[in-house]
Amino acid sequence: MILLRRLTLAAIVVIFAGAPWVALAAAPGGQAQAAPAPLNIIAFGAHPDDCDIRAGGTAAKWVAAGHRVRFVSVTNGDAGHQSQGGGALAARRRAEAQEAGRRLGVEYIVLDNHDGELMPTLQVREQIIRLIRQWKADLVLGPRPHDYHPDHRYTGILLQDAAFMVTVPNIAPDTPALRQNPVFMYFEDGFQKPNPFSPDVAVSIDETFQKKIDAIDAHVSQMYEWLPWLNGRLDSVPADPAARRAMTAKQRFGRISDAARATLVKYYGAEAAAKVEHAEAFEICEYGRRPDAADIKRLFPFLPR
Ligand SMILES: [Zn+2]
Repeated sequence: MILLRRLTLAAIVVIFAGAPWVALAAAPGGQAQAAPAPLNIIAFGAHPDDCDIRAGGTAAKWVAAGHRVRFVSVTNGDAGHQSQGGGALAARRRAEAQEAGRRLGVEYIVLDNHDGELMPTLQVREQIIRLIRQWKADLVLGPRPHDYHPDHRYTGILLQDAAFMVTVPNIAPDTPALRQNPVFMYFEDGFQKPNPFSPDVAVSIDETFQKKIDAIDAHVSQMYEWLPWLNGRLDSVPADPAARRAMTAKQRFGRISDAARATLVKYYGAEAAAKVEHAEAFEICEYGRRPDAADIKRLFPFLPR
């Protein structure tokens, strides 16, 4: 009985000691002692599945840490199939993107621009400016404008064109401008001309790699129909969903380039970096706000150093 009473008293003391922290954390308006506000990250890909492939693992890390991530496909994907197309394919791919977003814990938006026909027009630039502003983005991710696919190239151009303009109130004035230019960063790619990708940040995604594969696996029309057909190996795609997913997990969607490995060493140390199996890397775009080391630490809070 005495022991029980002591336990009860101890519990009361713990509750009392915890109370001020709870009060601060719950205080509206964000007191100095409260947890920092969640980051708002927005990633743009040309097609439904591009963001998942380039940044799905890092997105899952942000989500796990309580931050907000939005993926945007700038086209509706209505050209990405050998036997389907148009509105029916766009609807199918929108549903696949929604499922991928659900699996990752991110919001997935698919804009209704035609696949394979994207142009860096003022109209699409303003769509992108509005989405960045509405999300109050701290960090914007997307492809570089050097790529085999014109939709990828123009998505890169559109993001470069939106950087800075998101802060100009007279542009797209129906959506309030940001007071600060976000940091813009590029996804990793392997293209060498006119200059190769140069990573500023590399993130180990070993903890979230399975979630990334789950998201990519949701794009059935791409992973198990269109891309195998393009590569002449449609006959080798298994019918069983688990076998298909295993096939996707083997496709090196977290392969580490030499440059990314060197950048991992910078953030994780040589010993830990050598053990990383899957990573995603990002390069700072010169047209966004230029982050210092403290900004990088704030934007990628899971980096150990
Ligand atoms: Zn694509």
